[in-house]
Amino acid sequence: GLLLELKAVDRRYDEGTRKLTILDQADFSLKHGEMVALVAPSGAGKSTLLHTAGLLEWPDGGDVILNGRACGRLSDDERTAIRRNDIGFVYQFHHLLPEFSAVENIMMPQLVCGLSRAQARERALQLLDYMKIGERAEHRPAELSGGEQQRVAIARAVANAPLLLLADEPTGNLDPATASYVFDALEALVRHSGLSALIATHNHELAARMDRRVTLEGGKVVDF
Ligand code: ADP
Ligand code: ADP
Repeated sequence: GLLLELKAVDRRYDEGTRKLTILDQADFSLKHGEMVALVAPSGAGKSTLLHTAGLLEWPDGGDVILNGRACGRLSDDERTAIRRNDIGFVYQFHHLLPEFSAVENIMMPQLVCGLSRAQARERALQLLDYMKIGERAEHRPAELSGGEQQRVAIARAVANAPLLLLADEPTGNLDPATASYVFDALEALVRHSGLSALIATHNHELAARMDRRVTLEGGKVVDF
């Protein structure tokens, strides 16, 4: 079945008096457990697509259907609840909270969702082990390498066991060897937890390892 569907999605920005069309009746779907690479030049609309799929931006037309639920007309509160529970985000820069340790950063979204500190800590430590950085649990972000910081950010993104992982250049700030290593960990986690992922990347080697590759052309999402 399908986890995510974008149906005839329009997305436009106002540029002074004219409209800049980024998505134009765009269709896209992601199956359960599928890992898809989004490869397109800067400015093509990758972040717009990810933010629309992740319910951070509203489409100007069409609808976004997540796990069978039409999300285009939901209230802010309903969308926030879906984002918190069902969607994980990873960015090029880790955006970890600098004052908190790795394990605390991963606990945070779980505490927001009402888990106890003990439950949240146990799951966070499991995720750190899974990402092979269990021994770095008590370190703050500044004490971690770039690759370790991204692995913590990935663990945080999946802490609430989302259905969908959206990643915008998750290895874009890393050297090729580290990027490959971090991607290995990301891929293992996605495959292990059965989540679906849409991952924007400029790295063709990593894109080749995913189930399918899409790009943006004339406001549409097309396979290539
Ligand atoms: P990518 O992630 O592929 O680099 P984006 O989705 O960030 O592309 O941006 C696509 C285009 O839309 C760019 O030309 C960008 O300048 C424009 N854009 C993005 N966000 C906004 C916004 N909030 N207001 C106006 N223009 C925007
Ligand atoms: P609140 O501030 O009440 O947590 P938000 O709407 O800001 O409400 O965020 C709800 C959830 O949506 C957050 O827990 C976070 O996971 C996600 N979120 C919000 N803004 C962003 C963003 N720019 N990028 C990624 N995720 C975001």
